[in-house]
Amino acid sequence: MSGLDDLTAQFETELLQARDARALEELRVRFVGKKGLLTAQFKELGMLSTAERPARGAELNLLKEKINQGLDGQLEVLRQKQWSKPTLDLTLPGRSSEIGRLHPLVQVEERVKSIFRSMGFTVETGPEIETPYYNFTALNTPEWHPARDEADTFYIDKEHLLRTETSPVQIRVLERGKLPVRMIAPGRVYRKDKPDPTHFPVFHQVEGLYVDHGVTFADLKGTLLTFYRQLFGSDTKLRFRPHYFPFTEPSAEVDASCFLCKGSGCRVCKDKGWLEMGGSGMVDPAVLSGVGIDPEEWTGFAFGLGIERTAMIWYGVDDIRLFYENDLRFLRQF
Ligand SMILES: [Zn+2]
Repeated sequence: MSGLDDLTAQFETELLQARDARALEELRVRFVGKKGLLTAQFKELGMLSTAERPARGAELNLLKEKINQGLDGQLEVLRQKQWSKPTLDLTLPGRSSEIGRLHPLVQVEERVKSIFRSMGFTVETGPEIETPYYNFTALNTPEWHPARDEADTFYIDKEHLLRTETSPVQIRVLERGKLPVRMIAPGRVYRKDKPDPTHFPVFHQVEGLYVDHGVTFADLKGTLLTFYRQLFGSDTKLRFRPHYFPFTEPSAEVDASCFLCKGSGCRVCKDKGWLEMGGSGMVDPAVLSGVGIDPEEWTGFAFGLGIERTAMIWYGVDDIRLFYENDLRFLRQF
């Protein structure tokens, strides 16, 4: 009777070591094949007495069934492993999906647009290829002004150029003759500047215009103060310095108190306590009458700011060219 326990143990050990279908088949041959270990036991039945034979035979049959079931079961386990192998290999490094994000310039432009929208300004756009009339003449730029020079402006031919500011959009909106107008014009502008840390031949501006009855310089100051307080913080102060722009009279440059040091001087404001943000002023009556609006009845203010400059100040970027190099190591920081 003994020997079957050993055989069973031997089979169970080898069954767990079988790594594939071929090894299982070899195991089957070795135990229940024609010359198998268990088959040999069956052959020895004849040597037993009639009394011993039935019990031994039943025992052997039971073991044979156990072996066949074990082999079939293990084959199924291996098949399952084979099946799941190509789709799930836990040893492979993970495949991460890239998440896109908005370019820092787009983020700043969107922020500016949303603040002005909340103050009732519409967002207007216009062509980037303009005529000298819309880009200069209608904006009151005198013939002698250096901005008209071919050295400063990209002319396509005599009658076409790449706009040097987004103010031509304001002229196009005023020409529609629907007043009052309260709008901003964000967009790309072009100037023949040699690339350096603060210049690039293409950059982005947002220019604003408000024309209505009785608009004064106080409205300009109030609007810009509200805007910069939302952009840089509620304790932001503004400073207006007299300046000259062809489009406006009087004109002023706008400085905002430094959002970082609050005026005491730091790296961002280069120890001045103030940040130069852009130009502004009251729309020159000549511009209004040029598009058929009576400057005795209507007045307006205009202003502009640079998206790159604002982004550089806000994010502490010291070179405008970084925005245009498409270096993911830079862009992923925003
Ligand atoms: Zn500062």
